[in-house]
Amino acid sequence: MLLVTCPHCGARPEIEFRYGGEAHIARPADPSALDDRQWAEFLYFRSNPKGVYAERWNHAHGCGRWFNALRDTASDAFLATYPAGQQRPDLGGGR
Ligand SMILES: [Zn+2]
Repeated sequence: MLLVTCPHCGARPEIEFRYGGEAHIARPADPSALDDRQWAEFLYFRSNPKGVYAERWNHAHGCGRWFNALRDTASDAFLATYPAGQQRPDLGGGR
């Protein structure tokens, strides 16, 4: 069973969580100034790396709060979780 550590509740089974996509995507300051291509890139284009990926998770069947996680997409290992609004932690080692 994969355990995810909610920063507010602690380690819980993965089935309690809902995935929310890539983290740290900033909404454009003036959306009406974007052309269709720029708007489509904001909505749909994500980095999709093989390796460490910052993503949003919701503890849907727990506290209900959103938080961010660093997950290695190659191994599926959660490397860190941190509350939404905080900066991405530096894992060191060039990651
Ligand atoms: Zn929680």
